[in-house]
Amino acid sequence: MSHTLLPDLVLDAYGAQGGVGVTVENGRIVGVGSTKRGERLPGKALAPGFVNDHSHAFQRGLRGAVEKIEPSHPLDDFWTWRERMYAVANELTTDSIRKVSRRCYEEMLSAGYTSVTEFHYVHHRSDGTPYRDPTALAKAVARAAEDTGMRLLLLPVAYARGGIPRFRDPSVQAFLERVDTLVEWSEGRSLVGAGVAAHSVRAVPRGWLEEIGEYARRNSLPLHIHADEQPREIKECQAEHGMRPIELLARAGFLGPRTTIIHATHANEKELDLLSEHGTSVCACPTTEGNLGDGFLPAEEILQRNIRLSVGSDSHVRIDPCEELRELETNARRLSGRRNVLVAGRETSPTPWLLKAGWDHVGLKVGDPADFIEIDLSHPALADVEIENLPSALVFGAGSGVFAGVWVEGRKVHGRDDQVG
Ligand SMILES: [Zn+2]
Repeated sequence: MSHTLLPDLVLDAYGAQGGVGVTVENGRIVGVGSTKRGERLPGKALAPGFVNDHSHAFQRGLRGAVEKIEPSHPLDDFWTWRERMYAVANELTTDSIRKVSRRCYEEMLSAGYTSVTEFHYVHHRSDGTPYRDPTALAKAVARAAEDTGMRLLLLPVAYARGGIPRFRDPSVQAFLERVDTLVEWSEGRSLVGAGVAAHSVRAVPRGWLEEIGEYARRNSLPLHIHADEQPREIKECQAEHGMRPIELLARAGFLGPRTTIIHATHANEKELDLLSEHGTSVCACPTTEGNLGDGFLPAEEILQRNIRLSVGSDSHVRIDPCEELRELETNARRLSGRRNVLVAGRETSPTPWLLKAGWDHVGLKVGDPADFIEIDLSHPALADVEIENLPSALVFGAGSGVFAGVWVEGRKVHGRDDQVG
């Protein structure tokens, strides 16, 4: 059965149009075009749901708890934050990880994210022994997404050394067997898909990177890895391998069009050229990178090389796609002393490039999953904004509070009105 939604406006990365209906059938968009008939959504604009391309859901449990100096670590930085994060990770159980993930995904949906890529590296009991079902924690996270109606790409993450025992596997074969199980398990689950990841060049040796890269290619799976987040990681990689992290990934056969580099904060020109040559994407996590003192990625250079960019809320210090996108441009302005910096090709505004980083495409289109957000046009943040300026107002002058409803697979999974009264 098909169903047509008729909002006041349909918004894309370039503007907004009235008199357009969006027809949904079996969870997919089957029509976007002018019509006068359908279920009216008065006072609302419809737009694609945002994609959150990097998440560690359990880190939502650190919210507010890490914004002070520990007396034992008077110089606080990424590495001391990591100790606090490990302590939280060590306490997780199958029940508690599902609970904290559910809370995190509920907040994401309310903020306009309709799909999330979960970078999952808590695999075993805290002493490192596998659960009876070795995929129990990964499945608990996936079920949390299903509980909330969130679309999820589950990435089991390889971890060979460092960290805490429950992150680590004894061999890359043991890890890939678990990935096989999860890929098979996710088939036929409408909201859950699976890919594969390696944690970082810190945590995974070259031999593992080669095997995981080859496995992802053979099975046509999305492949993610953290790289160039911190200067220390680059120094350690140079000491061990005589090259920088993204150079090592290129040599190990890890880069390709299905690969996404998380952060790339300190990537140099040569590394960016390698990403461009291999058609590899970058995922920026600006609110987390700012919170951790990581730095800011070379966004202008990424844009100039036509490297595809996505965003993620990573540690979930904030969950708001408008804020992630705004930070990209605002940081680029702070660094360059200019305005309207991240402008692609012949465009005149950064807004289309930023929204494409948040949506993965320009607007609602036939064949895509029916995942969208309802924007409340009467919200004070959008009052008196000209229709043609709505996309920029969303990125530069609004927050996730303007999203009144969220749909995944053609089903309304979150609505602000539903919670009132
Ligand atoms: Zn991360």
